[in-house]
Amino acid sequence: MRLSRVGYFADFVVYPTLLAFLSWTTLRHALPTQRDDWMLAAGAGLAAWTLLEYLLHRYVLHHAIPFRRMHALHHASPTALIGTPTWVSVALIGGLVFLPLRHELQAAIASGATAGLMLGYLWYVGVHHAAHHLRTRPGSYLFKAKQRHALHHHSRRACNFGVTTALWDNVFGSARADAS
Ligand SMILES: [Zn+2]
Ligand SMILES: [Zn+2]
Repeated sequence: MRLSRVGYFADFVVYPTLLAFLSWTTLRHALPTQRDDWMLAAGAGLAAWTLLEYLLHRYVLHHAIPFRRMHALHHASPTALIGTPTWVSVALIGGLVFLPLRHELQAAIASGATAGLMLGYLWYVGVHHAAHHLRTRPGSYLFKAKQRHALHHHSRRACNFGVTTALWDNVFGSARADAS
C-alpha cells in the first residue's frame, strides 16, 4: 500500500533496532553452545528468507487477492513509496515465526532463526529500494540485482521474482537475463 515517507523508511530503523534487541537479550548471558545454536539458526533463518521472498513474491503478491492489486500499484509506479507497513511485517514475523518457534524450540534457536529471517527481510527491502531509487556501480551486486528486478517489471514473461538473489529463479526456471 501507499505509505508516507516516515512509514516507508520505518523498516530501516525498526528492524535494526529489533535485531539488536533480539540478539542482545538472547546472547548476553548465553553459554558458548547457545551462541553457536543462535548463529546456526540465524544462518538458517536468513537462507529460509530467500526462499520465502521468492514464494511470497511469485505466488502471493502476483496471484492472491488483495495483495495482487496492491502489488500491481508498485508495478505501475515503481518509484512511488509503496510497501508493506512495518507494523504488519513485524506482527506477521512475530506471530507466525517467533511465537510458534519459541513454543517448540529453545530460546536461542527461536531467537536466532527469527533474527536471521528479519535480517533477510531488511536485506530484501534495502535491495528493492536500491533497485528503484539508487544509482549502482556497474558489475556490483546491487547493479545486477537492479537489472534482474528491472526485467521483472518490464519483461513480457513473468520472471525474476527473487530480489536479493537469483538462486530460486534458477531453481524454479523463472530466471531471465534479457527481455525476450
Ligand atoms: Zn512483482
Ligand atoms: Zn519493484
